[in-house]
Amino acid sequence: MSSTKLAALNALTRLARPVRRARLLQAAKQGRAPISISFYHRVSDTHPNGWTISNDQFLRHIDHCQQHFEMIGLDEVQRRVRTSQSHTAAISITFDDGYGDNVDFAMPLLIQRGIPCTYFVTTANVRDQIPFEHDVNLGVPLPVNTIGQIRELADAGIEIGCHTRNHVDFSKIHDPEVIRDEVARAKDDLEQMIGRRVRYFAFPFGMPAQLTQAAIEVIGESGFDGFCSAFGAYNLVDRDWFHLRRFHGDPEFARLQNWLSIDPRKIRQEPTIRYFLPPARSFIETRATIGESTPSLASAH
Ligand SMILES: [Zn+2]
Repeated sequence: MSSTKLAALNALTRLARPVRRARLLQAAKQGRAPISISFYHRVSDTHPNGWTISNDQFLRHIDHCQQHFEMIGLDEVQRRVRTSQSHTAAISITFDDGYGDNVDFAMPLLIQRGIPCTYFVTTANVRDQIPFEHDVNLGVPLPVNTIGQIRELADAGIEIGCHTRNHVDFSKIHDPEVIRDEVARAKDDLEQMIGRRVRYFAFPFGMPAQLTQAAIEVIGESGFDGFCSAFGAYNLVDRDWFHLRRFHGDPEFARLQNWLSIDPRKIRQEPTIRYFLPPARSFIETRATIGESTPSLASAH
């Protein structure tokens, strides 16, 4: 984002803040406060890139969230959406992929402060210690978590979620066996690794194109409690609770603050995504927001 655009967003967010705050409090009173879920990939002071934020930036995000929001887990997000009981401004923190550096600063910080977090892991990369393709393509193959680290995170109370075996793009996969490998068998791998049930799935890239009916069907059949997208949206009461909508934990603090203060334009701009969910075969209509600062594919692995 250019510095002029950023300055404009800064000014807009500052001006809009009192109105948005009042609107959020009013919605909370009625049990209808939109719930935020942010996603991160890597927190580290080395090798900065589009999917890394520094330790200081992450600390600033978490301090801000703790000051202004109730910090909750994904199960609590779902409970509030399902029951129309969203009485506080709330946020849930998630991570995707499984970067080794996250155990140095980010995870210890969250664990020490007792902040709920869901950590989505790409199982084959972790099991075989293979760097992620998006890093290899940049010529910087960064270390991934080890199985031991994932187990320790789970033991420390971090919820471990599934992010496929091989970080696949479901918009390009049509073979039912491959879909089963990347969803159901990835869940089995992960449950064996950590000795616990894995409840949530996060789509790699997480844009509307990746949320295919075929993949969602297997997610439902495999016993997941829900799936996460990553294209930028809020979770609103009375909407589809199985689909957890997330936005990027943006290093540009102004952009993050704009999301956190509940930008009404992002709610208005929601296209509709429909899917069938087994086994109840309930028909779910989900509205997805594509805002003006929709995260690029580069920032939504
Ligand atoms: Zn990813």
